Amino acid sequence: MDRLRNKIRDIPDFPKPGIIFKDITPLVKDPAALRLSVHQLLQPFLGREITAVAGMEARGFIFGSLVAWELGLPFVPLRKPGKLPYDVQSVAYDLEYGSATLEVHIDAFDADDRVLLIDDLLATGGTAKASCELVEKTGAKVEACAFVVELDFLKGRDKLSNYEIHTLIKF
Ligand code: 5GP
Repeated sequence: MDRLRNKIRDIPDFPKPGIIFKDITPLVKDPAALRLSVHQLLQPFLGREITAVAGMEARGFIFGSLVAWELGLPFVPLRKPGKLPYDVQSVAYDLEYGSATLEVHIDAFDADDRVLLIDDLLATGGTAKASCELVEKTGAKVEACAFVVELDFLKGRDKLSNYEIHTLIKF
């Protein structure tokens, strides 16, 4: 995984002072690294009963849609408020400062769907937890969540103890 790790760039003081942002754009700019990351993300789920892939806005769209493409499954975008044109389900969740909301079209999943959730990075786990709740609100089931990067020290996994979590690179 060093091949992928080397493609994650630290950006100090982004989006605010004191935060070191993990920038995945060098990884997606490298076709071999992007391909490797997509194959590693989906690898544990080959042969599993997954019927749809969902990605969190915005970097989850990059990896999630490629995973869906490779598995030959539908891709469902989980979006920030006000972006989806049809009727939505929504879940609000707390951030370190303030709150955020994710939305999904009410008809995005079938009730018997088993969903693989994909995002670029697991930090505190708030986004992923809200995404799981959102999928479940539609009646579908979360089969597992997969991330390219996990920021171990933020203990996002603790928030997601009811779910199967797969990550490629830990910092
Ligand atoms: P959490 O909700 O787990 O605290 O934050 C994860 C969400 O915020 C993900 O959707 C992820 O894209 C974004 N995020 C938070 N910190 C970073 C970071 O350092 N790098 C990247 N690429 N995304 C981040």
